[in-house]
Amino acid sequence: MDFDVIICFEIHAELKTQTKLFCTCPTKPGAPPNTQVCPVCTGHPGTLPVLNKKAVEQCIKAGLALNCSIRERAKFARKNYFYPDLPKGYQISQYEEPLCEEGFIEITGDDGEPYQVGIKRIHLEEDAGKLMHFSRSGTQGAGPGEAAEYSLVDFNRAGIPLIEIVADHTRNPVRSVEEARRYLEAVRQVLRYIDASDCIIEEGQFRCDVNISLRPKGSQGFNDRVEIKNMASFKAVMAALEYEIRRQSEILATGGTVAQETRLFDEEKQVTLLMRTKEDAPDYRYFPEPDLVELDISRELVEKIARDMPELPSVKAQRFVTTYGITKADALLLTRERELSHYFEAAAKHCEDKKRLTIWTIKELFRLLNESKIAIEECLVPPEHFGRLVQLIASGEITEKIGRVVLKEMFETALSSGSPGKGPEEIIEERGLKPIVDERELEQLVVEAIEAHPDAARKIQEGSPEPVNFLIGQIMKRTNGRAHAGKLRQIISAKFSL
Ligand SMILES: [Zn+2]
Repeated sequence: MDFDVIICFEIHAELKTQTKLFCTCPTKPGAPPNTQVCPVCTGHPGTLPVLNKKAVEQCIKAGLALNCSIRERAKFARKNYFYPDLPKGYQISQYEEPLCEEGFIEITGDDGEPYQVGIKRIHLEEDAGKLMHFSRSGTQGAGPGEAAEYSLVDFNRAGIPLIEIVADHTRNPVRSVEEARRYLEAVRQVLRYIDASDCIIEEGQFRCDVNISLRPKGSQGFNDRVEIKNMASFKAVMAALEYEIRRQSEILATGGTVAQETRLFDEEKQVTLLMRTKEDAPDYRYFPEPDLVELDISRELVEKIARDMPELPSVKAQRFVTTYGITKADALLLTRERELSHYFEAAAKHCEDKKRLTIWTIKELFRLLNESKIAIEECLVPPEHFGRLVQLIASGEITEKIGRVVLKEMFETALSSGSPGKGPEEIIEERGLKPIVDERELEQLVVEAIEAHPDAARKIQEGSPEPVNFLIGQIMKRTNGRAHAGKLRQIISAKFSL
């Protein structure tokens, strides 16, 4: 039996702000536990929340970037539940009137066509604290299925602003595991581009729960969906979805029904396990937050945020194709990260041959970055040095081979000195890599090569062109690639009247 898969994500992303959502505690990551807390974010009685304007603006920015409409009025609500990391006993969130509604993000569907995945809403809410579990020996992290000896709670994260991006299961839902991966990557990329969130997955800045249900191919109704929680990486999300698709198809194929329930992903066993059955909004007894007034969002503010919006990745990729004449695939690679696209554009100002610059970025620069395990924003080689190097290669001043040597040295001198390091011209000069372009010198090299390889010379005379490359190769070997290959070819051609 064939099934349609309906996948809907609820993504939580930590917003980039200096202070928390309702108090002035800092949001710096990596601080020692419970050093960024105050009576407000730890829910002491009698305290009152004061809304952070920057967080509201960041949420609106995310909404606009994800093609949502921004409500003129928005409300905060209390979501009541008990958990040790939630000292207030409720989370301030948005329920009935979220800031952003009815958006979408375009991904490439499995059929290769553009596919606009519907986003139902984006709302603003506060994060909870973080529980840390310890084993009997005092080491952190009792594994799944293993009981922790004791747990501690860190409230530094409590009150950090989050946006929750809820996908719409009725409007172009994600239809496969591969589309799920592309959707998550696309949302994360947009949030990073607009600087709304760093979305560092390992730091818990980008987390998701996912709903999944199946239905017989072509049918219109919705079966009860299963929610999966506790996935720490994209890889875990994919594995959980694959497992769940298998499990649900088996149930449906044998005439059973899938119960609405929340399941946890067990990373070790790569299976989902029942956590609790049926959980709905009424369980949280949402009600309007009495300590905060309703939000009036002025159109001027929304327009200003829209005006200041940085170029989004999809738009930038298209512009790279038209401006630099490179392929769509290359443009997508170069715009994958905002910093990388900036680097490329800065380098492009110093290099006329954009296609060659593209290849050198994707092949040579990426390789060096990967080898030293550093991100492009940590790359100390200034983009103008890199652009000038590729320009030297493009104009035939140096060969590709020497270019690689120079780039490696540029990279290493920058890394070891912690500074921009040496420019390409300086390295070429110092290392004696200066190309041989003098006609007489080249002529002499050709004469010597012909004398050393009379067989090759005879074959060329007899009309066979291949030994020309052989001779050039021999001269390159002798000169460590410094001879100008184009000029050598001209000289040889002239000599043999080719
Ligand atoms: Zn606080």
